[in-house]
Amino acid sequence: MKEATLKNFTKRLSQRTCEGRKLFSVMFELNWRCNLDCLFCYLTYAERATGPSQKPEMTTEQISEILRQLAEEGCYRVAFTGGEIFLRKDLYEIIACARRFGLEVTLLTSGSLIDEAAVQKLKELGVRRCSLSFHAMDEEIFDQVTQRKGSYRKVRRAVELLLAANIEVELKTLGTTLNKEEIIKVNE
Ligand code: SF4
Repeated sequence: MKEATLKNFTKRLSQRTCEGRKLFSVMFELNWRCNLDCLFCYLTYAERATGPSQKPEMTTEQISEILRQLAEEGCYRVAFTGGEIFLRKDLYEIIACARRFGLEVTLLTSGSLIDEAAVQKLKELGVRRCSLSFHAMDEEIFDQVTQRKGSYRKVRRAVELLLAANIEVELKTLGTTLNKEEIIKVNE
């Protein structure tokens, strides 16, 4: 029997669920807040605000109930996104809840708040994949895109830590006039 890789398995499962018009994968926005200020961000400055003026977010209980319903519908995977999801204090609680319901978890994050402790926690919770935005190999250009000095180093470190922990990393680069020369370099 041919050995099934996770990629092949999810591809076949995805085909079958599509054929049966069943729920396969869900993108779940957990928050609006963000610690970065990317030039191309589709959220407004007010939406991304942290602190007292931040936009209301769903509670842990509300999210847990939605996850329960997704699992009940036979959903296979949930991709958590924001804003910056690592700003939520209950992020690990939410991931643990999704895992308890048997959902595969992918995280979409800037990676700027991922440190050793975070990677350890993700590993414990069985997160297999993180999708990060990586704007440029050039530090200065990267920090210009996020409008936060030091963001390149933090995100680069996060990529190294995740890979060292055998967590799959996907890098995405949105092309702008600022980083157009960098897109190829990120993919090399
Ligand atoms: S990391 Fe995402 S949410 Fe945050 S500023 Fe950049 S594009 Fe917007």
